[in-house]
Amino acid sequence: MTIELQVLGAAGEVTGSCHLVTAGDKKILLDCGLIQGRAQDEQRNKAPFPFDPKSIDAVVLSHAHIDHSGRLPMLVKAGFNGTIYTHRASRDLCRIMLKDSAFLNEKDIEWENRKRLRKGLKPVEALYTVDDARLAMTRFKGLVYDKKVRILPNATLRLKDAGHILGSSIVELWLEDAGQVRKLVFSGDIGRPGMPILQDPAFVREADLVIMESTYGDRLHRSWEQTLVEVEKVVRETGSRKGNILIPAFAVGRTQEILYMLARHYEAWNLQRWQVFLDSPLAIEATRVFTQHSDLFDREMTELWQQNRAQAILPNLHLSRTSNQSMALNRIHSGAVIIAGSGMCSGGRIKQHLKHNIWRHNCHVIISGFQAQGTLGRALVDGAKFIRLWGETVRVAATIHTVGGLSAHADRNGLKNWYAHFDQRPPVVLVHGEAAALESLRDTLKTELGAPVTIAGQGHRVDLNRPD
Ligand SMILES: [Zn+2]
Repeated sequence: MTIELQVLGAAGEVTGSCHLVTAGDKKILLDCGLIQGRAQDEQRNKAPFPFDPKSIDAVVLSHAHIDHSGRLPMLVKAGFNGTIYTHRASRDLCRIMLKDSAFLNEKDIEWENRKRLRKGLKPVEALYTVDDARLAMTRFKGLVYDKKVRILPNATLRLKDAGHILGSSIVELWLEDAGQVRKLVFSGDIGRPGMPILQDPAFVREADLVIMESTYGDRLHRSWEQTLVEVEKVVRETGSRKGNILIPAFAVGRTQEILYMLARHYEAWNLQRWQVFLDSPLAIEATRVFTQHSDLFDREMTELWQQNRAQAILPNLHLSRTSNQSMALNRIHSGAVIIAGSGMCSGGRIKQHLKHNIWRHNCHVIISGFQAQGTLGRALVDGAKFIRLWGETVRVAATIHTVGGLSAHADRNGLKNWYAHFDQRPPVVLVHGEAAALESLRDTLKTELGAPVTIAGQGHRVDLNRPD
């Protein structure tokens, strides 16, 4: 009898989530994510899959983030013709996010090929196109939380709310072979209890094997309340000095949290003096998907949503979709809060706004997300005095504020608490973390909870009949 898990991605790193489950003669893929980060890491996305895509019977996707979903169009293009099971909200988010990721990829390749042609080199192909993304969407089947679904003759699936982003799921899989049933639980990415908009992560009590993320396994986050105090201070300071506030933000999750924060404190923070601009077509679309799934909101967000449904939830919010609308913001020197992508300032419309604002003393930039090494956002956080924008050197005179408490991931205590809810101490395989985080979480789970823990390397296999 064969019931086996093999780790094929996010082993010792935080992107490229992908795991292969084999039960008898059936194969299920958990996630199929893009590797993101430095150019040499992203090169690995071009490598063929370490399995035959045609041999996969079904895919289960934990959530819509590109590092979990981004290679699905390549999987379908390479011959996968089964169903991709995920939460309905994740399906709706994937529809816009995969298209956006494909579009950006096509643009990058176009640019690269122009350079290659000038050097006499052969053109290269995009990882996937907008058409590939559309084709992949035809394979999706949207599910709801807490309902068991038989996805293959020998596999049953149930999704539970992971509280990480809209539609994010903890995956429970019951697998059968030769009359034996084993249960695998995949954490996906686990959210933080007490954060706005979404429900807290659900707990699971039973598993024969747990595969678990470790992103912040070595850190503790600042609280949401502390974050509110920090943001309020920036709003007050800037208001008295007449300037703009720029907020680089990820389109899914962070943008909606910031909008929620502003809506919730509209009066207390005197926000009627400001105009808030959401300058990102992707974030506008993502926000629309959030409102279509208001049944997933937590109690506070549901109250806010019901009270304000008739009017705009934030009366001074302006959506800028077109590039002309975006460029019109360059003429505003005071009183604008501009939320735009990308979250790490490495591309997107935020770069334009930095160019027009960052050299001015009375402007403020609020950095609210993780900034990877080598990105423009990281340079700002590290106190760069000058930055380069499209070949031009620009002086940094604006004040840069780093706001710590907005992560969408559980910290070490959150992860430990989530595992502590299992009745027994099932074996755990740790993935989706850098070395320090993985080791710290392993030590915490071992010493404080007596858990049998393994840090997975690439290709690591676990037999669910003998998972220890
Ligand atoms: Zn995620």
